[in-house]
Amino acid sequence: MPEPGTFAATLIVTFGRHARVRDDSGKEFDARPIGRKLDCVCGDRVDCRHDPEHGEVHIVAVQPRRNLLQRADGRGRPEPVVANIDLLAVVAAPAPAPDYFMIDRYLAAAHCTGIEALLIANKLDLEGGQTTLHTLRSLAEALDVPVQAACATDGHGIEELLTRLRGRCAVLVGQSGVGKSSLLQALVPAMVQRVQELDRDDEGRHTTTRSELFQLPGGGALIDSPGVRDFAPAISSLEPRSLGFADVEKLAPHCRFHDCRHMREPGCAVTEAVTAGTLDVRRHESYRRLRRLFEDLQPAPGARRGNR
Ligand code: GDP
Ligand code: ZN
Repeated sequence: MPEPGTFAATLIVTFGRHARVRDDSGKEFDARPIGRKLDCVCGDRVDCRHDPEHGEVHIVAVQPRRNLLQRADGRGRPEPVVANIDLLAVVAAPAPAPDYFMIDRYLAAAHCTGIEALLIANKLDLEGGQTTLHTLRSLAEALDVPVQAACATDGHGIEELLTRLRGRCAVLVGQSGVGKSSLLQALVPAMVQRVQELDRDDEGRHTTTRSELFQLPGGGALIDSPGVRDFAPAISSLEPRSLGFADVEKLAPHCRFHDCRHMREPGCAVTEAVTAGTLDVRRHESYRRLRRLFEDLQPAPGARRGNR
């Protein structure tokens, strides 16, 4: 229950230190987090208070989160991205060329945060669309994640996507230019128009510079996040033995050493699976890259990693 004098709301837009909240009757207010330490993100449930003196709404507290997707900033420190999510929808397309390493890292973050994942193969109409879909399907099969083929421009797959998203809170992520805003536009046509007008750059192109939560027509919500050039999960949110790689996690118990890093250790079931052709070479390389990043960003190794 919110404290007396405060009301509960959902944070629906963050833009620097500015925010917008929606109360439970659907009324929206511009709001401002009070206190330097108050870190709130889209999807958060917050306690707000009207400040009649300044005609403002203040966010005074963040309610405990069901989950929190975090990324690593340039120095490896965790940075919150979105909260209280049911589904992480990772969008890929034939153009720009898919960065499967980044897709792997999103899937690892979802796995470790207990958020379901969905892969969306967008721009099915373009040359290479089927190849992207095929690659995502084999990845999805190995990780037990669903895939949805889509074309934001002709509406293919949009009904199916709406069904998958119904009643849930999902976030759309992926490289810039894969079609996240176009998918959002196709899924929630009425809501997005207004925002896209605000978000045009000097040349009139649409760029997403903030996170915003949209209500879906059939219930549920979809969060659009700013396009990213790269994504690394917050190290502290990763399970240390498999770094959230679900396929590595399944193999790890069969490694000779309990603390196997699955890099070059003898008797490593993960490396053996690559040799046997049952684990994709690219997945292993992706895992190794994240492992190296993980170890580079670890605070001073100290005695724990000792002589390994
Ligand atoms: P975002 O950066 O991920 O939000 O990508 P946008 O939605 O802004 O889309 C980038 C470009 O791809 C735009 O020119 C879109 O019109 C185009 N686009 C998006 N979806 C599709 C699609 O399904 N097919 C084709 N051919 N183009 C698309
Ligand atoms: Zn191993």
